[in-house]
Amino acid sequence: MFAGHIGVALAVSRVEPRINVGLLVAASLLLDLLLWLFVLLGWETVVIPADFRQTHQPRFGFPYSHGLLFGVVWSATAGASVFWLSAGSSREKLRAALLLALVVVSHWLLDVLVHRPELPVTSAGSRQLGFGLWSNMTVALAVEAALLIGGLSLFFAGCGMSRARKLVLAATSLLVLAFTVVGMTVAPPPPSAFAMAGSSLAAILLVCVLYGWLGRGVGVPESLKARLPSSCPNPSAPGSDAPASSDRSHESGAAHAERPASRNAATTTGKRAVP
Ligand SMILES: [Zn+2]
Repeated sequence: MFAGHIGVALAVSRVEPRINVGLLVAASLLLDLLLWLFVLLGWETVVIPADFRQTHQPRFGFPYSHGLLFGVVWSATAGASVFWLSAGSSREKLRAALLLALVVVSHWLLDVLVHRPELPVTSAGSRQLGFGLWSNMTVALAVEAALLIGGLSLFFAGCGMSRARKLVLAATSLLVLAFTVVGMTVAPPPPSAFAMAGSSLAAILLVCVLYGWLGRGVGVPESLKARLPSSCPNPSAPGSDAPASSDRSHESGAAHAERPASRNAATTTGKRAVP
């Protein structure tokens, strides 16, 4: 699964626009990023089986990147890093940290849905989990497409992005979905596990950078920072291309009421809580 993880990141970006969407995409793909890095380092294994043309499923030995125990550890580490590195009030930092940690652990939850039973609970020899939805690839890809398109729709229902950037981001997301579908259906076996790890790692890094670049400054449009009490742009404001129905003001009113002072501080200083 690749596109589905990105769909989760896009959806969470709608909830917490102060985190750059590139960072959320990186969080959603963190376990795969670690997997391919660990394969290159020889710490984890991936085997291209003889039936790859039929299943398109490599066999993984990945306790450190995709074990349940380590998944929780990576999630907590990522969340703690965001908490300590970001600016803002303790409540804002905690919210950002928890959401990012949730995105990291969502990767494991989606993977356990689609993989065959091969995700260990703790170490390599422990119980292996996996519901094997990839054995019904049509359904699995439909779930993945729904996650990406749903996340993209939620993201676009937010604010602060020009139409041109929306178009590029939508095209990028659909390209990612197309690559996922091709990779899981008709792609030939990779020449080696090492080549698969290298190309997958490069693809993940490229996608993270691209989303980060496209999502820069989206949460708090520069033109509105000085005028608004929160990161919600006024859709009727001159220069805003956000439709009225997409105003983030229908985000939880309680959430806005909780942090007006700190949001004001962030907007007047031009700081983003998480770059
Ligand atoms: Zn994974």
